Amino acid sequence: MEIKTKIVVVDESEMDEAAEKAIAEAGAILKDGGLVAFPTETVYGLGGDALNPQSSGKIYAAKGRPSDNPLIVHITNMKALEKIVKEIPETGKKLADAFWPGPLTMIFQKSDIVPEETTGGLETVAVRMPSHRIARALIDAAGGYVAAPSANISGKPSPTLAKYVAEDMMGRIEMILDGGSIGIGLESTIVDLTDGEPTILRPGYITEEMLTQVLGSVAVDRTILDGNSRQAPKAPGMKYRHYAPKGDLTIIDGAPEAVRTQINRLAQQQKEKGEKVGIIGTKENIRYYKADSIKSVGSREDEESIAKTLYQFLREFDDEEVTVIYSEGFSTAGIGQAIMNRLLKAAGHKIIYLDE
Ligand code: AMP
Ligand code: MG
Repeated sequence: MEIKTKIVVVDESEMDEAAEKAIAEAGAILKDGGLVAFPTETVYGLGGDALNPQSSGKIYAAKGRPSDNPLIVHITNMKALEKIVKEIPETGKKLADAFWPGPLTMIFQKSDIVPEETTGGLETVAVRMPSHRIARALIDAAGGYVAAPSANISGKPSPTLAKYVAEDMMGRIEMILDGGSIGIGLESTIVDLTDGEPTILRPGYITEEMLTQVLGSVAVDRTILDGNSRQAPKAPGMKYRHYAPKGDLTIIDGAPEAVRTQINRLAQQQKEKGEKVGIIGTKENIRYYKADSIKSVGSREDEESIAKTLYQFLREFDDEEVTVIYSEGFSTAGIGQAIMNRLLKAAGHKIIYLDE
């Protein structure tokens, strides 16, 4: 069934009367069981009332997402957390103090008010308290609990601009709040607190080092960077191929000079076969490249800029109908771990390591 999708521009830095009106309207849609896409500090989210099983069902349908892949519940305060979890372990309190509101999701044992539809049948629930002003105002207007995965069709890169949300969600949801471009550009870090030592299930902007500083130590789910692991990832969503551009993406990793030589060689071969070739590279290398579409993620040192531009570039290659893509690899320290994790998934784990 085709739904009429209303798009409203709302500026986070200028929350005037019109913005308040739009957010009140969006909140009413959510309370009524409808869906609204909205900006957060990580990527655009596709929101529904987390305590309404029918809303969660609609989210899965709109995204074409398998319903065993649980949703993250977004809240704005610690009182709300107490209502939806069985208990808050000491580690959860410490992490909330350090990183909430912000781009960190924690997994707790769920309380009875959270429907199984929202948690994909699990007895645990993923919770995040975002810092984005529009997201927070919307969650409050909706009654305090908003289930929200990224606002893309399942398998496409997460949207960092409202125009990409519209591309995927027009006719499928009631409203899109257009808050402009997103600050971080990668999804939240997910930490499981329900199973022994706190464990990173998905790397993100809050890095392993930052979590270790607060907790003393933290484990990392082995499946995160190892594409060949036979173990099932603990975050059900991590098992699906994700973030995939239409073009065939390969990562070339190694010393910068060797990488750019190899990328140019491969690009040339593909061009001769009639392919349309795209390249993602760092500022330091970019002027050496020859291809149909060349995109610079910024300096190799500037991980934040790489995180912010990656999904946008994958989407742009789709628009440009690029058929073959080569990307440099990015370091795996800090947010580099999150960037490489997403890039590897986008590439279906196709990576060529060049010996130093
Ligand atoms: P997205 O909503 O697109 O950011 O994806 C949410 C991610 O959180 C998926 O990878 C889910 O599998 C994961 N997730 C949500 N709830 C849980 C949970 N209770 N236990 C483990 N992983 C979860
Ligand atoms: Mg997603």
